[in-house]
Amino acid sequence: MAGEPQEDCLFCNIIAGKIPADVVRETDTTLAFRDINPQAPTHILVIPKAHYKNAAELAAEAPQLAADVLAETRGVAEGESLESYRTVFNTGSGAGQTVWHAHAHVLGGRGLNWPPG
Ligand code: C5P
Repeated sequence: MAGEPQEDCLFCNIIAGKIPADVVRETDTTLAFRDINPQAPTHILVIPKAHYKNAAELAAEAPQLAADVLAETRGVAEGESLESYRTVFNTGSGAGQTVWHAHAHVLGGRGLNWPPG
């Protein structure tokens, strides 16, 4: 059920401390950790602690939590001293989503082309 921890969810297991992660920030409602396969010098994921399958479900069912995640992307950028950065929510497999727990990518530390691939 949306909002409830899922036993087979990688990010729920990171939140539960069952799978290690390089955590950089934590709030009551969010966790931020370094991506295991970084695509930029800084590549950090911000996730809600509650389980929603992607940004669309998160925005529809828990808009305040979606706002918390967005606020934390700014916190990450400040913490990493990023003047320019990109915040990405891949939503759906056609857009490259591979982990079915909502997450924002924060990418920075190099020039980023537009449009993305
Ligand atoms: O947007 P997408 O669903 O593809 O992003 C999932 C991200 O989770 C990937 O960038 C992947 O490298 C990252 N990941 C991670 N730690 C894991 C497994 C995946 O940071 N243990």
